[in-house]
Amino acid sequence: MTRHDNCTYENRFKTLAVGAAENATHPDKGGTSDVIPPLHLSTTFEWASADGGNEYAYSREGNPTRAALEEQLARLEGGKHGLAFASGMAAISTTMLSLVPPGGHLVSSDSIYSGTETLLTELVAGYLGVDVEFVDAREPENVAAAVDSETDLIWAETPTNPLIRLCDIRSIADVANDHGVPFGVDSTFASPYFQAPLELGADIAVHSTTKYLNGHSDSTGGAVVTDDDEIFEKLAFSQRTGLGNMLSPFDCYLVARGIKTLPARMEHHEENAMAVARLLEAHDRVARVHYPGLESHPQHDLAVEQMSGYSGMLSFEFDGSLTEIEAFIEGLRIFTPGASLGGVESLVEVPSLMIPDEISHGSATADVPENLVRMSVGIEDVDDLCEDLQSALP
Ligand code: PLP
Repeated sequence: MTRHDNCTYENRFKTLAVGAAENATHPDKGGTSDVIPPLHLSTTFEWASADGGNEYAYSREGNPTRAALEEQLARLEGGKHGLAFASGMAAISTTMLSLVPPGGHLVSSDSIYSGTETLLTELVAGYLGVDVEFVDAREPENVAAAVDSETDLIWAETPTNPLIRLCDIRSIADVANDHGVPFGVDSTFASPYFQAPLELGADIAVHSTTKYLNGHSDSTGGAVVTDDDEIFEKLAFSQRTGLGNMLSPFDCYLVARGIKTLPARMEHHEENAMAVARLLEAHDRVARVHYPGLESHPQHDLAVEQMSGYSGMLSFEFDGSLTEIEAFIEGLRIFTPGASLGGVESLVEVPSLMIPDEISHGSATADVPENLVRMSVGIEDVDDLCEDLQSALP
């Protein structure tokens, strides 16, 4: 049984994903009975009286299209409060900067998206003087050994980019609870459809909505969901007033639109990724496949326990030279070489060859092999994807 089966009619995930229109159709909110949340581009709203008095006054502080998306994001993650940011990095940096004071202490998993790693080393540690401790969070004991009651935030990404490693959210949440430390999880690779960090005990779930939530590679954004009122107040202040890094109404509209098909897309991504992972695993020029759905993944049991599906992201180690990897990439017709992930189209990336330093998916804290190829498996016909790989592999 997955968590999606274990829900009531009103909150089964697929129904939640489609039924985003409460804000728009509620008789007290607009009264136009739109079935989808309308796109409010106005930056300012006419005052109901000379001293204000209306729900929305200025779009940075509050916008009805953003409010509808934030409500939708909170519902999907099973949380109380949602916040929509201008990018995944805006969501992550705002969380860190709002919860960790200069000179504070932050414990992070060592295998994380390189942008997050750069944020932690350059800005959080380098500029704010925070003591940032990277640990191999595949073992929760390593997190426990680093955390104490002075720790301001525990940070983990699972599954990780690009090595597809997992962290045990429930065990790390127990460590966080023992010390009264907030615990944030970047759940971008799983999407809310396949993983529920808050249900597993985390305090904060974070996503780059640029990826699966929007799902169409045409909007950059980020999301934070939390049940904790105090965390929400701090982050909302930063988003709306202090930093002003909220998501634009048009992007909110796109993400809300993408979310309606999230379950259908995720099931298709996973089905295709499983077929691609099995094909790669059986190929004699592939040394190792990193996909949590494979029994050979060292944390497959944890994946079964904490995820309700394995998503569409995988990476593999090519048994050959960089020149051969280049020829493989050039031979692909359906997989497009490019950064990013989580869109309907299949993408391929070789961190050591393709990514400029500033967005490098190599990592200083976790060894990313030179021969690693990362794939975001899309929702095309699975036979076409498999044939594409078979004809491009040597
Ligand atoms: N988190 C993960 C796991 C990512 O892979 C990325 C980007 O690739 C981000 C966060 C950052 O998101 P964005 O590019 O929307 O700022």
